[in-house]
Amino acid sequence: MAGKNEMSVVVLGGGVLGVSSALQLAKRGAKVTLVTEAELCSGASGRSLSWLNSAGERSTAYHALRMAGIDRYRTLFAADPTRDWLRFDGGICWSANDVAGTRARHSYEKAHGYDSHLVSANTVAQADEQVNPGVMADEAIFNPGEGWVSLPHLVEHLVGELRALGAEIVEQAGKASVISEQGRACGVRSDKGELRADAVLVACGPWTPQVVAPLGVTIPDGSPVSMLVITEPSEQRLKTVLNTPRAAVRPNPGKRYALDHDWYENDIKLQSDGSYQINESVVAQLAQEASKLLRGDATLIPHSWKLGLKPIPGDGEPVLGELQSVPGCFVAFTHSGATLALIAAELLADEIITGEKHPMLASFRAERFG
Ligand SMILES: Cc1cc2nc3c(=O)[nH]c(=O)nc-3n(C[C@H](O)[C@H](O)[C@H](O)COP(=O)(O)OP(=O)(O)OC[C@H]3O[C@@H](n4cnc5c(N)ncnc54)[C@H](O)[C@@H]3O)c2cc1C
Repeated sequence: MAGKNEMSVVVLGGGVLGVSSALQLAKRGAKVTLVTEAELCSGASGRSLSWLNSAGERSTAYHALRMAGIDRYRTLFAADPTRDWLRFDGGICWSANDVAGTRARHSYEKAHGYDSHLVSANTVAQADEQVNPGVMADEAIFNPGEGWVSLPHLVEHLVGELRALGAEIVEQAGKASVISEQGRACGVRSDKGELRADAVLVACGPWTPQVVAPLGVTIPDGSPVSMLVITEPSEQRLKTVLNTPRAAVRPNPGKRYALDHDWYENDIKLQSDGSYQINESVVAQLAQEASKLLRGDATLIPHSWKLGLKPIPGDGEPVLGELQSVPGCFVAFTHSGATLALIAAELLADEIITGEKHPMLASFRAERFG
């Protein structure tokens, strides 16, 4: 890793992408200040299913980036396989009554080397003996190479390293904006004052398009509302991540589970103060759907739930790298930001420090939107 350099960088946004990028920049010797609106993880990273995967069909470049993302998590996992917030025990998914679709997805995954196995009610126990075979579709896909991470735990881990490298973290800064002079980004303005820097990285999750709009940059936004439920501790010991027609489930530290899905999106209502609300009966219904997926008489009880935007760029693909029209201003805005958090940070930090464009980011530039 490079030693000290003269560069100062402000990272805007205290989610996993901001924190991870700040750490990679600090490791490369930059003077880093992370500025965020509220507390760390107040956005999507505090309420994410964070299934680490590259399942299903997507562009070749996006698949390659996600696989590199999983690779970096595997390295982190190998450094301490006992962590209860990062596990690689595989994922199981099925869709409702669509054997042809499941087989097509399985064939597609195998064709590009993604570890993919068809399982049935008779064989699913070999993948995870806690799955209730009685509610499965006739065929499901088991992807043994997948995992999950708890982003608040990961962020805490990364922040420990970041602080040790002398980076400054400014929380409760309100909605900050990028300062540009003669077309070049040169700092940020927030409730805490003005901060000058050689480069700015905007990693504001679903709010990224709003932050770059005053710079004359349009990034289409497709971020939907979403909910993550954390359950009370349960004796069930599911290991895998389950993606099923009515509930997605993953283990969470503390013998809890994290649950999400999208069928209740229309039940999430925006309040006049900008927060979101959902009827408690919908939360209970999601917990019931998840309970059915577990063997035995499991009853998952909701402990807490968080609502908010899930960052998704308009075309579904990541937006990463420097804005051509605003030199010195970099962006990180992506769906699957859990899977990409470590690798995207690494590639962005390299670009910011060296000024050399990384080929893996070539198709993810904001300029593709014209
Ligand atoms: C329900 C759900 C399920 C998900 N499932 C998965 C999954 O299975 N796999 C996967 O890989 N990914 C998943 N994701 C996506 C992933 O969690 C996100 O892509 C990732 O957490 C985004 O991190 P981020 O740092 O970009 O944004 P965020 O975590 O949203 O952080 C952005 C931060 O910027 C701050 N901010 C915003 N505007 C400003 C401003 N103007 N000034 C200062 N600060 C500002 C916000 O307060 C926030 O703290 C899921 C997300 C959700 C919500």
